[in-house]
Amino acid sequence: MLQQSGHAALPGAPGSVAWLQGVIDALCDLSSRDALTGLANRRAFEAALGREIDRVARSGEPALLLLLDIDHFKRVNDTYGHQAGDIVIQAVADILRDCVRPMDLPARIGGEEFAIVLPNCPPAFGQTVAERLRARLESQTIALGPQQHLGVTVSVGGAYAPQWVRSSPTLWIERADLQLYRAKAEGRNRTCLEPTPVSLVSAEEKGMLFGGPSWDQS
Ligand code: GH3
Ligand code: MG
Ligand code: MG
Repeated sequence: MLQQSGHAALPGAPGSVAWLQGVIDALCDLSSRDALTGLANRRAFEAALGREIDRVARSGEPALLLLLDIDHFKRVNDTYGHQAGDIVIQAVADILRDCVRPMDLPARIGGEEFAIVLPNCPPAFGQTVAERLRARLESQTIALGPQQHLGVTVSVGGAYAPQWVRSSPTLWIERADLQLYRAKAEGRNRTCLEPTPVSLVSAEEKGMLFGGPSWDQS
């Protein structure tokens, strides 16, 4: 099964410690990937979001979550068939993989829904980054066969992780999803980002949250 899923041959002799470790590593990898696209699956993505929330809370560095949903995807399935729909999903995944920095994590979190978490993405760049992804997807045609090419567009919603305040993957996804809903409602093939929140948390509160020196002892 592991070999069928594209994994390299396992190390060591069957039954050896190295071999067993290879099996465990390969199974972990398999359980965190989406089978159709090879991107991170929803479960792995939410775990990564949780880690990113902790990092943002510790460092105060901004991080952006983008949700992307293919526009009118049902029409693709209805017109060209489910298999062609799968080719489109794979092609969109490849384009996303190709467009992001090594530190960014793209994932397939639903049928034709994708997400990317971009650590250390300053608010001044967020719109540009999201818009570049949207434009790249719009400009690229997808080959369904030797004679058949198709263009698709995506709507993009985005939200920044709250700095200095603990959140949850679910809440963060909900905020980005609201923006995605807005992008759909405003006509699709567009990017909507949540306005950047102003942090109202004081230095004392940060200390209380993250175990720094307590303000009543200083
Ligand atoms: P909208 O612009 O509002 O997003 O329109 P839409 O047609 O994309 O709307 P919706 O999200 O309702 O449709 C998604 C469709 O994606 C419905 C479902 O049949 C199809 N789908 C979900 N998963 C897969 C998959 O793995 N492969 C294929 N080919 N189709 C899928
Ligand atoms: Mg959808
Ligand atoms: Mg859709």
